[in-house]
Parts: sequence; C-alpha cells; structure tokens
Amino acid sequence: MKESHSRLVLVGEPLATVEEFFPGDGTFEKDGVIYSTRVGKISVDKNRRALEVVELKPLLAPKPGFKIIGSVTGFSSHYASVKIFYMNGNRLSYEYSGLIGKESFGRSYPRFRTGSLRNYVRENDIVYGEIMSTVNVNLLDLSAKEYGVVKAYCSNCGSPLVLFKKYLTCPSCKTRENRKLSVFYDEPVEKLVARV
Ligand SMILES: [Zn+2]
Repeated sequence: MKESHSRLVLVGEPLATVEEFFPGDGTFEKDGVIYSTRVGKISVDKNRRALEVVELKPLLAPKPGFKIIGSVTGFSSHYASVKIFYMNGNRLSYEYSGLIGKESFGRSYPRFRTGSLRNYVRENDIVYGEIMSTVNVNLLDLSAKEYGVVKAYCSNCGSPLVLFKKYLTCPSCKTRENRKLSVFYDEPVEKLVARV
C-alpha cells in the first residue's frame, strides 16, 4: 500500500532516516539520512517500508503524435500559423503555436498542388490535426482524412461555410471555397474535443 503526502519536497531535502525507511526512487542515502533527488511529493510504500519522491506532473509540452485543435491566425510566404488551444486531451491555458505548410498535407498534396496554401486553409479556420515534428517549430500534419479544417468562414462575408453537395458554400453570399476538409467538418467543437 502506498501513501502519498501532499507536501512538496525539494532537491537535497532530508526526509527520514534509514532506520525508518529504505531509500526508494527519487532519493539517496548519506550517513543514514534519506534525501530527495528531485522536486516532488513523498510516497511511502508501507509493505516495503520504502520512501520515494514522485515527480510532479510536468507541463504539457508538444510532442510528435499529439492531436491538436487550433485556429489559423495568419500566413507567411510558405506557412500558415496556428494558435493551438487543445492538445492531447487538454485545454491549454498557455499558448502554443504551430505551422501548416505543404508538407502538412502529405500524399494528398498533389491533389491541391495548383494554387496557394489558401486553397487548403484560411485565416480563422479551425483545424484538427496532429503534431508532426517539434524541431524548431511545431509542424502540423493534416493529411489523414480525419484531419483538416473542421470549421471555416466565408472570406467574402465571414459567415460560417456549410457543406452543400460536397462543396463548401456560403449560405449568405453563395461564395464557394476550397479547403482541405476533415471528415468531421462542422462537428461541434465539444464533440471534436473528445477525439483529441
Ligand atoms: Zn459569404
């Protein structure tokens, strides 16, 4: 049976003596005293009489394979930037940004080769995707059929676009637009979040 203590301990903090406990993970023993080697919380295994220091849950950092939801905030010459607000099941309270480039569309890219990146995504679009690489920047993968734009707005009048006979159409001004759509296009964000 393990018993956790809520008090935070610091590196090098003396915790107990070897007469009381065996030094477990996250501790070391010197001259009969057990010290902590990490910042964390004390956990005591009563059966083994072992004391360990359990690391605090680290801040969620972007990793390849993590699923994300974000909105497209702008364009540079070859990339669109995305403000990520949901990652791997967590609503983010701090901001991460990602980039969408032609490499984000993988093998589906040749289908869209003509025209600019704005044929795939546009400002204010909500996208669902996966982190592809975190080297230098968080590059997003939108190539799978689940991934892509899940909500788009008319670039002419700002109304939400609807799928009408496979075409993304503005119900107000009848403009037709192109995007790399997710099969979950128009799914409510709450429902989509459950997939992230
Ligand atoms: Zn419109």
